[in-house]
Amino acid sequence: MEKNRRIGVVGSGTMGSGIAQVFAQTGYGVVLLDNHPEALDRAAATIEKSLGRLVKKGTLGAEQVPAILERVTRTTKPESLRECQLVVEAVFEDATVKTEILEKLDEVTSPDTILATNTSSISITELAAATQRPDKVIGMHFMNPVPVMKLVEIIRGLATSDQTYAAVESLTRELDKTPVEVQDYPGFISNRILMPMINEAFFCLMEGVATREDIDTVMKLGMNHPMGPLTLADFIGLDVCLNIMEVLQNGLGDDKYRPCPLLRKMVAAGHMGRKSGRGVYDYAE
Ligand code: NAD
Repeated sequence: MEKNRRIGVVGSGTMGSGIAQVFAQTGYGVVLLDNHPEALDRAAATIEKSLGRLVKKGTLGAEQVPAILERVTRTTKPESLRECQLVVEAVFEDATVKTEILEKLDEVTSPDTILATNTSSISITELAAATQRPDKVIGMHFMNPVPVMKLVEIIRGLATSDQTYAAVESLTRELDKTPVEVQDYPGFISNRILMPMINEAFFCLMEGVATREDIDTVMKLGMNHPMGPLTLADFIGLDVCLNIMEVLQNGLGDDKYRPCPLLRKMVAAGHMGRKSGRGVYDYAE
């Protein structure tokens, strides 16, 4: 595999598997790393299933699938990422874990490798400071599900160079995605706007302005959103929504971002949304 056609992806969960898939579909060799071998196996199965759906829809030829799958190499060894032109990290949203990963990537990859992070809310500038190459660290915020969603927010840390930005922008276009340039402020654009809307929906529910169904219906039919904000919160995870509201409140220092007490209460009760079987709605069955 030639170096300038090789991409590393660290973390093979929901986002990492999708990111690996779109690069492989574009013809890149992908080195997919996770510290849990079973997560790598799950990712391989997820990619295969997702490609199968594209074949069914007629957007991908069945004959292309084996080559795409072959382009993805699975590994648990960071050293395997050495020759990648870009490594995108998509591990848990935890600043300590991500900092450790960036330090490791800085150590094992070639000095000209660009290190991108798919973080939803952690400062790119702060993560970049953990490396000796802050000019080559950048945010590449894909949306879920990655193979379907067109947007990539590209976030410039304080030290990100124009050259790094240009390289990542061009790669994003190659993936047939639309890049948007964003400066490094809490929540970037997507979550800075989306999360306060979801939080406000919780305030409406808490104050008894309307039922959960009616709040969702207003935003679906009135604003043409594909999904109501409370349904969306269940999808994202209420704990994730709460965490991002706290990042906005702390990072921007403005109480207009205060998390709704009902959101806090539901997270405290373990009602995290779809993933826990119960959130605003019940998914028990
Ligand atoms: P996930 O929990 O599905 O996957 C995380 C993966 O990282 C797991 O497979 C885990 O084994 C692996 N991992 C954890 N620590 C590791 C380590 N030290 N070394 C190697 N692998 C490690 O998470 P996700 O939903 O894919 O989210 C990943 C990132 O993407 C987060 O930063 C999140 O904020 C961001 N993000 C998520 C979404 C979303 O909708 N899920 C959307 C945009 C951005």
